[in-house]
Amino acid sequence: MTLCLGIESTAHTFGASLVDDRGKIYSNASKTFTTKKGGLIPAKLADHHLEYCDRVIEEATQGFHDFDLISYSAGPGIGNALRIGSSMALYLSKLLKKPLIGVNHCIAHLEIGSMLTKLENPILLYVSGANTQVIAYEGGRYRIFGETLDMGVGNFLDSVARELGLGFPGGPKVMRLAAKSKNLIELPYVVKGMDISLGGIFTNVKQKIELHMREDICYSIQETVFAMLLEVAERALAHCEKTELVLGGGVCCNSRLQDMAKKMCKANSYKCGIPKNDFLVDNAAMIAWTGLLMHQAGVKTEPGIRPYERTDQVEVSWRN
Ligand code: AMP
Ligand code: MG
Repeated sequence: MTLCLGIESTAHTFGASLVDDRGKIYSNASKTFTTKKGGLIPAKLADHHLEYCDRVIEEATQGFHDFDLISYSAGPGIGNALRIGSSMALYLSKLLKKPLIGVNHCIAHLEIGSMLTKLENPILLYVSGANTQVIAYEGGRYRIFGETLDMGVGNFLDSVARELGLGFPGGPKVMRLAAKSKNLIELPYVVKGMDISLGGIFTNVKQKIELHMREDICYSIQETVFAMLLEVAERALAHCEKTELVLGGGVCCNSRLQDMAKKMCKANSYKCGIPKNDFLVDNAAMIAWTGLLMHQAGVKTEPGIRPYERTDQVEVSWRN
């Protein structure tokens, strides 16, 4: 058995997890930065992660004397936050003389979703704070078939929530208010080719905020933006001739988005894999699992962070 310690620190969450090469998850500890006002300020994130990193790693490794490998999120993400996780991983790898693997965070969402839902060749609808991408494996890489042209859907929901005075993270609060309405306000629906854009919708919502109930605003942004996401995902599935959709990213905790994904899949006889919330949000189990897959395929990585690494820059030698 090979046991890997994974460390996640791309943005708001510092996480640590132990996973073995059969996919058994022994621990999945985390501490997430939250704030009542403002968003993710890089220097504050780093302070938060520094404050909690030792406790989170201790919690994840409790009862284990040894592991074989260390992996960490190398990117994409916020530099200040990434540095804390990568430094801890590098330090531990030197101290304990264990191999070190830097993992792409977006790819890790796909790998854990695929493993947990037993879908072998799915398309990932990855919807998180900063990232919104439709990703599929084609020709030796994970390719991006569609993505946001400006902000991620999570950041969009958080920004609207901030305008409504709901605090961060706003996504869950938007979801709760949305459930109280069925009153659809017309908003721009912006799909360009295979990409989506949210900046115009955000401006439009800001103009309408005083004129409508908060519940109706929340309901309408969810209905509009989630429909855009599933339109792109559905077309990517058809284009790639794939039949499995897996969800990843914190926004996919949203029950309305999950319902819409299930409906779209059912209508096309596709399978729809939805991991539990703990593995949809940023988590270290996905970093440990992807680190194991890479290590077993003989992949070596340079230490350090890659804040701007795109999904399709990574050569994927661990699948065929
Ligand atoms: P991640 O970066 O993948 O951890 O996802 C964080 C984002 O997910 C934040 O923008 C949250 O507002 C959003 N989020 C979390 N839960 C929900 C939910 N139930 N509905 C919509 N967005 C959510
Ligand atoms: Mg993420």
